[in-house]
Formats: sequence, structure tokens, C-alpha cells
Amino acid sequence: MSGILYVVATPIGNLGDFSPRACATLAEADVVAAEDTRRTRRLLQHFGIHTPLVSLHEHNERRRLPELIERLAQGASVALVSDAGTPLLSDPGFLLVRQARQCGVRVSPVPGPSALVAALSIAGLPTDRFAFEGFPPARPAARRRAFTALAEEPRTLVFYESSHRILESLADMAACFGAERQGLLARELTKRFEESRLDTLSGLRAWLQEEPQRVRGEFVVVVAGCTERSAEEAEQEAVDRTLEVLLRHLPVKQAAAIAAELTGEARNRLYARALELERKPH
Ligand code: SAM
Repeated sequence: MSGILYVVATPIGNLGDFSPRACATLAEADVVAAEDTRRTRRLLQHFGIHTPLVSLHEHNERRRLPELIERLAQGASVALVSDAGTPLLSDPGFLLVRQARQCGVRVSPVPGPSALVAALSIAGLPTDRFAFEGFPPARPAARRRAFTALAEEPRTLVFYESSHRILESLADMAACFGAERQGLLARELTKRFEESRLDTLSGLRAWLQEEPQRVRGEFVVVVAGCTERSAEEAEQEAVDRTLEVLLRHLPVKQAAAIAAELTGEARNRLYARALELERKPH
């Protein structure tokens, strides 16, 4: 008779969010497969749990599979946890869960915290449909390509981001989705310095920069989906950026003519817009 693989959510900050059932499952399992055994040991110690631990992370998941599957096949119960939140959500565990299913092992969730759902639940943006995008690519060109591909996505978008890249990512989101698109920035959820703000994407970046310590910690960015209006605004912003660059080097008439060629917009409309931009204080 095969055992059970439990997929157990752990707190994303506040230990009070560790559910009684998660606690009991870890205490009663034969083994806990943990992303970082030192970190999970501290959690287990806090709750007086003495179950043995094995490590299961990005770099050893494939290697560890046969041994864990063998134990499950022999009837053991294995509890899978990650460093924080729900395993498999931008965390290891996918290979183990897939293999367990392929081998006919029962897989059962012990649901609980996840930064994705926590941020979405407080965003004040539509949640009836959403797309979880995980971490955006680290390299700027790949990140901008990824955002550009999502620019017309009508569903609410959810991203994870690290403190090292949050400012760059917000700048690229503003450039690709439109600076006026609404978004929620949530940092340090359930922790002592939890903060969240709903604003335009450019407003969120400015807010983050107001306080140097705000750039620290863990972040979720929830971005409103594209509406017809936000698509038009983003297009207008892109046209304005083209005009602004051209106006730095050329007279209004020439700038409008070249912008018309580049964007396919009517030349007289761009001429009027170029005049407006020229009059705007710099
Ligand atoms: N599996 C986890 C979950 O269910 O939330 C996410 C793991 S992923 C490796 C870690 C990322 O989740 C962080 O870089 C951050 O983007 C987000 N995150 C985790 N905890 C958070 C928190 N307390 N506040 C805000 N974001 C958090």
C-alpha cells in the first residue's frame, strides 16, 4: 500500500499563520522534505516537532526523487514544504508531485499562506480572473520582452519580485503597460513592516523611492489587466516618448513627420501633440 505525499503550506512571515493541521501533518509525517533544512528545522523546533528532515531543492530535486518515491511506495508519509508559503508556487516540488502522481501515490494538500493569494486578496483589483507570472526575467531585455507580451492581457497580473530588482521592474512595467495603469505593491506581508499601496505604476515607483528602507524586503506586484482605455493610454505614452526624443533634436514639423512615419499616426495630429509637448514645462 502506498503512502501519502502531503504538500504543506508554511507561514510567509507571521508564525501565527501556521495552521493546526499543517503542524499536525508535519509532526505525524515519517519525513519532511524541505527546501532549506536549516530554515525548516527552526520552524519545527518552534512548534516542538521532531520529524526527520531531508533536503529537496531546485538543484537536487531530480536526484532525490527515486529515494522519496521508494519511501512513498513502501507506505511512508512524506510532507513537502518550502521556505515560506505554498510549495510549487515559484518554489520546488513540481517534479516530486508529478512523479508521485505518475506512480499512483496519493497526493494531498494542506493549504495555507501564499504571498500570491495574500496580495491578490488585498489589492482591490479584479480577482475573478488573474494570471500568476511568478518572477519576471532578471535580464532587462528579456524582462521588457516578457512585459510587452503581457501588455494586452485583460486579466489581473501577479508578479513576485526581489528587493534587488523591484525598482527596475516597476520602471519596465510602467514603460510596457503604461505609467497610468493601476497596480498594487505589497511588501513584507504579515511581517512587522508590512505595507501595501494601490496607485499608478509610476506612482508606486515614486512611493518606493520616498523611503530608502522601503526598497528592502519581499514584494508582490499586482497589476490591473488591460482595458481598452489603458491600451489607448499606453499607446499615447509610447507616441509621446517618440515625439519627446525627436523634439530634442528636430523642429516641431520634422519631429511630427518622422513620428508619423514611425508610429503610423496621422501627421497633423502628431504636429498638434508635438506643439502641446513643446509648451509643457520640462
Ligand atoms: N511559495 C511562496 C508563496 O506561496 O508565497 C513564494 C516563494 S518565492 C521563492 C518568494 C517570493 O514570494 C518573494 O521573492 C516575494 O516576491 C514573495 N513573497 C514571499 N513572502 C512574502 C511576503 N511576506 N510579502 C511579500 N512578498 C512575499
